[in-house]
Amino acid sequence: MADTKYEGEYYCVKCKEKRHAVGTVVVNAKGTRMAKAVCPECGTNLNRILGKA
Ligand SMILES: [Zn+2]
Repeated sequence: MADTKYEGEYYCVKCKEKRHAVGTVVVNAKGTRMAKAVCPECGTNLNRILGKA
């Protein structure tokens, strides 16, 4: 089974910097795994594409 958590670097579009965060892995309708987290600095939602499930 795929991990349901992803810990690593996310790019924050608001800070314009990479942020280390722990997020939840979800699979969208196209079968692409995405990690969703929240920027620890500004609270913006962060998304990272992980690839095909
Ligand atoms: Zn941020």
